[in-house]
Amino acid sequence: MDFDLSEEQAILQNTIRRFVEEQCPREYARELDNTGKFPEDLWQKMAKLGFLGLPVSAEYGGSEGTMIDMVIVVQELARATLALAVPFTNTIGLTNKVVSALGTEAQKAKFLPELVKGKIKTCFAWTEASGGTDVLSMTTFAEPSDDGASFIVNGSKMFITQAHQSDYIFTMLRTIKNPPKKTQGISCLIIPTDLPGISIRTIEKVGQKSTGFCEIHFEDVEVPRENLLGEENKGWYQMLPLLNGERTCFSAICLGIAQAAFEDAVQYMGERTAFGKTINHFQILQHYIADMKTMIDAGQLLTYRAAWLETMGRPIGFEATEAFLACSQIVNRVTDLGIQILGGYGYTTEFDMERYWRDGRVFRISPITNEMAKNFLAQSLGMPRSY
Ligand SMILES: Cc1cc2nc3c(=O)[nH]c(=O)nc-3n(C[C@H](O)[C@H](O)[C@H](O)COP(=O)(O)OP(=O)(O)OC[C@H]3O[C@@H](n4cnc5c(N)ncnc54)[C@H](O)[C@@H]3O)c2cc1C
Repeated sequence: MDFDLSEEQAILQNTIRRFVEEQCPREYARELDNTGKFPEDLWQKMAKLGFLGLPVSAEYGGSEGTMIDMVIVVQELARATLALAVPFTNTIGLTNKVVSALGTEAQKAKFLPELVKGKIKTCFAWTEASGGTDVLSMTTFAEPSDDGASFIVNGSKMFITQAHQSDYIFTMLRTIKNPPKKTQGISCLIIPTDLPGISIRTIEKVGQKSTGFCEIHFEDVEVPRENLLGEENKGWYQMLPLLNGERTCFSAICLGIAQAAFEDAVQYMGERTAFGKTINHFQILQHYIADMKTMIDAGQLLTYRAAWLETMGRPIGFEATEAFLACSQIVNRVTDLGIQILGGYGYTTEFDMERYWRDGRVFRISPITNEMAKNFLAQSLGMPRSY
């Protein structure tokens, strides 16, 4: 076993860390959170420096980085702001993965170079208002047009991250209304957001404000058949395994936030005084710091293991879910302790700790709830299906 980053990985980590420290100081991260604005300037700089092509094949202008490289970059971005980490995970990581795995040559040639150049943004629409956990209850329907050249889409999606800032919605929908099994008859359509019949409404939320989320309505939206990604009616079986890598990247996001909270807490403890000494002298607060670091390191090992397995081309369903379950809880516990260490100031908006706490809270809910992650793990361990 080798627990060290390779020389190239360490260089990548230093480079991206320097980039975010120089380009996204905490004042800018706060501004992004306050305004909900997407940092297009930084996105374009990332494109110029080659970061956006990290996981993409060299054939389409990328640098063919591994999942370990992705985890390194996503974690450093999240240490500064989710405004970069979340789009990097969805627009770059997930889009590259599904288009590379399932796309036609024409789709790869159209989308992948655009991703690398920072020209397009994408979002992924699975959830509907009727339920995200029971996602197979989806009813958004795509009916073939009379001439078969396109699909007519009707329905709506809920809680879709960055839909309002995206050029394309990778939309999971029904292409058979009442199939014998709910997992059948689902397909993925790549829907341009500027087509007639699409309306997008942003919804206010507690954290991750710079990457808002949205409700999307499709009313008789005509989508060319060539925008079908993968096989018609096989979408569930083809897309689901590809989401495991997304879980690994979201684990890294949790760790990036937790690391920022840990660093801020350590700094604060060295500055704040009580009873005539800095509060880093109090043993109970030292124990909090020890707990925070132990949790972050444990999450890091699980996340690197999942990323390593994927890099080796091995199955990662169980390990990626374990990593995400752990890291989503770790970021909640670490940021909560961070607030405790900062006391009243931790509960103000003048310090970043409350932003970390708000940003981290969602990961026990999305992209998969802790409860559903545990269902999956328990079933994988041989337990009967509970639902
Ligand atoms: C910030 C944010 C961003 C999101 N971005 C996207 C996105 O980009 N694309 C997208 O498609 N979706 C997105 N989602 C939706 C997200 O995937 C869902 O919120 C999540 O899957 C949970 O679904 P739900 O909110 O409908 O809760 P529900 O499914 O209604 O669940 C409610 C509660 O019941 C529990 N529960 C449900 N079924 C079971 C069961 N069988 N066993 C035990 N407990 C159960 C859940 O764990 C939860 O605690 C986002 C959500 C948020 C909050």
